[in-house]
Amino acid sequence: MTVQIEENPVRTIVVGGGLAGLAAATYLARGGQRVTVLEKSHTLGGRASTDSPRGFALNRGVHALYSGGPASSVLAELGVRYSSGSPNHVLALDSRGLNPFPGSVGDLLRTNLLNAADKRELLGVFLRLSLIKPERLAHQSVAEWVAAIARRPMVRRLLASTARTYLYTTALDVASADAFVARLQQTMKHPIHYVDGGWQSLVDLLRSVAEAAGAQILTSAGVNTLQVENGRARGVRLHDGRRLSATSIVVAATPEDALRLLPADAAPRLQAAVAEALPVHVACLDVALSRLPAPRQPIVFDLERPRFLTVQSEFARLAPSGGAVLHAFLQHDPRQPVDARWAQSELEAFVDQVQPGWQSVAVERRFLPHMLAAGCLPLAASNGLQGRIGHRSQDVSNVFFAGDWVGPHGYLVDATLASARESARQVLRAGTDQRSALRAA
Ligand SMILES: Cc1cc2nc3c(=O)[nH]c(=O)nc-3n(C[C@H](O)[C@H](O)[C@H](O)COP(=O)(O)OP(=O)(O)OC[C@H]3O[C@@H](n4cnc5c(N)ncnc54)[C@H](O)[C@@H]3O)c2cc1C
Repeated sequence: MTVQIEENPVRTIVVGGGLAGLAAATYLARGGQRVTVLEKSHTLGGRASTDSPRGFALNRGVHALYSGGPASSVLAELGVRYSSGSPNHVLALDSRGLNPFPGSVGDLLRTNLLNAADKRELLGVFLRLSLIKPERLAHQSVAEWVAAIARRPMVRRLLASTARTYLYTTALDVASADAFVARLQQTMKHPIHYVDGGWQSLVDLLRSVAEAAGAQILTSAGVNTLQVENGRARGVRLHDGRRLSATSIVVAATPEDALRLLPADAAPRLQAAVAEALPVHVACLDVALSRLPAPRQPIVFDLERPRFLTVQSEFARLAPSGGAVLHAFLQHDPRQPVDARWAQSELEAFVDQVQPGWQSVAVERRFLPHMLAAGCLPLAASNGLQGRIGHRSQDVSNVFFAGDWVGPHGYLVDATLASARESARQVLRAGTDQRSALRAA
């Protein structure tokens, strides 16, 4: 029997117009799919959006692009070419004050933070790092790994402060070491990028490549629910009552949003996975300054409290001439409640210490008490990065996920873009398999 195949019969709906949704849509459109992106907000970008008060570019919380990983590879593949600067002159704060942060061999030799024995041990850690296979550490916590690789208290404190900052959490007793060690290896080989114009530049560039590939992008188009029948999604219902049919759906939103979209009885496995996950939240203080009080102190790791600060405008185009953009953030333990007022005072006190007088030159300041930095913390108890949820729904066969809580590769936006690429591939493969089956029938 010959089955007539329509030339362009399939439509994939992508729910969410953040970086994951835009990247997935581009891959899908380039793969020949008819794609519609539905974004509930009136603008694109989600957590990667940048606001521009008075000519400053303020990301929503500190945003550093770790180059050399899956995010770089996806952006390059999609033809997203951005300009950026890389941070240097990094300091560490402890009770003795500010000292060079020993993140490179040069700074290691220069810093007064460590004595000779500490320096020898840290150098040994640097040398051993490149030989480690991160995936072998999936069942070890960061705290266990740090205790195993370093004996000297000061070296352990440095590694713990770096881990808190890279993983955006203080829960080092449960976070898996694979994510941290992979990130350390990445930053030892590849620079960190502070993106000119903020991450909105990435959003805008991704939008252009998605549209150039043929993706349709709708904003103010919130999806109320996925319509599921007999284990397959038939389409979506929007908040305004419209219904759109689809052959596949990519949910490129946070885990909580994904749960809201899938009816409770249709997605028991997703519910169980999300219930077990630890989402990673941070408190952020974003500040625009008419001038920077202490230009020689642009980036500071706090060794004693879970805080980090960076003046990204010293390295990237983010502020009008003479002005500065500063981001500070406080890491939490996702298992503990956080008092927002306390978090704000912790961050303000930190900025007082590093950039004294900032309050009198602040032209814009924004405190964001509870920002979702990553949808799920990789845990030693559940196989680290490998233990994150898979790309294809186990509940609804033609639903796929993308975001920083999905798939085994990378952390933060590395996971976001790696999962967007892989989910798009799986949608395309599923479509090809379906068409082959129809042709053979
Ligand atoms: C404070 C902070 C700091 C960060 N720092 C870094 C960093 O330094 N380095 C790094 O690599 N990463 C960092 N990240 C992580 C990075 O921002 C995210 O990984 C990335 O932006 C996630 O993109 P996404 O598209 O998966 O999700 P989101 O950006 O959350 O986008 C999801 C989109 O889906 C939309 N949506 C949700 N529900 C619906 C619905 N029902 N219908 C339609 N649309 C819907 C939302 O409006 C949103 O636009 C940081 C994140 C935060 C919050």
